Amino acid sequence: VAKTDNEFLVVLSGGMDSTALLYSLKATGARVEAVSFDYGQRHKMELACATFICQHAGIEHRIIDITSVGKAIAGVSALLPGNNDIPVPHGHYAADNMAITVVPNRNAIMTNIAAGIAWAHDLNTVAIGIHKGDWAQYPDCTPEFVVAMNTLLGVATENRVQLVAPFVNITKAEIVAVGEKVNTPWALTQTCYEGTRIACGRCGTCVERIEAFDLAGVVDPMEYAPGGVGYAREVVKA
Ligand SMILES: [Zn+2]
Repeated sequence: VAKTDNEFLVVLSGGMDSTALLYSLKATGARVEAVSFDYGQRHKMELACATFICQHAGIEHRIIDITSVGKAIAGVSALLPGNNDIPVPHGHYAADNMAITVVPNRNAIMTNIAAGIAWAHDLNTVAIGIHKGDWAQYPDCTPEFVVAMNTLLGVATENRVQLVAPFVNITKAEIVAVGEKVNTPWALTQTCYEGTRIACGRCGTCVERIEAFDLAGVVDPMEYAPGGVGYAREVVKA
């Protein structure tokens, strides 16, 4: 991260990665604000979580309504409006069936909107919580994406705004370790693609979260529904 990176606009989903990112940037003493996007996601609960997280962190938070965009690109993703009848895939996150959870061009859309907001509010850096575990499934979660976005933003904002993705080369387990050190309020985060506050413990992203906490040796305060991997872990912990 360059020396001028002291004013961050975090793209906050309400999930554990962007929340850990927010807290790790805030721990440096930097000015931090957050922006979340309502694209009509099935797991809309995460927006309420994002609001609580920003209240907890004591920072400015904006929720941008792009539900019309979500509707227009809904055709291919189980996570988008009107597709609640498409089952969210269970099993491991890296499996091929996770393709149904790809939201077309999501991070480029959000990063570009966030960059405009950052410029307007004198924040020189947009920060996103993408990580290594996302590379295989999501093309806009890769190091190449970050480089390409910075080329674009350099031109489009005349270098007023840059993009950083501090977690892009680390795993979700490493994010848990980093986030734990800066007292990330894990209990306020939302992970499950089903969008229920009590997590299913079976969908790809639940399974990934459970594995990450296990690997990091940190207790996950998430409540999991009976029948899934997550519930089994809770029983073991209890
Ligand atoms: Zn789940």
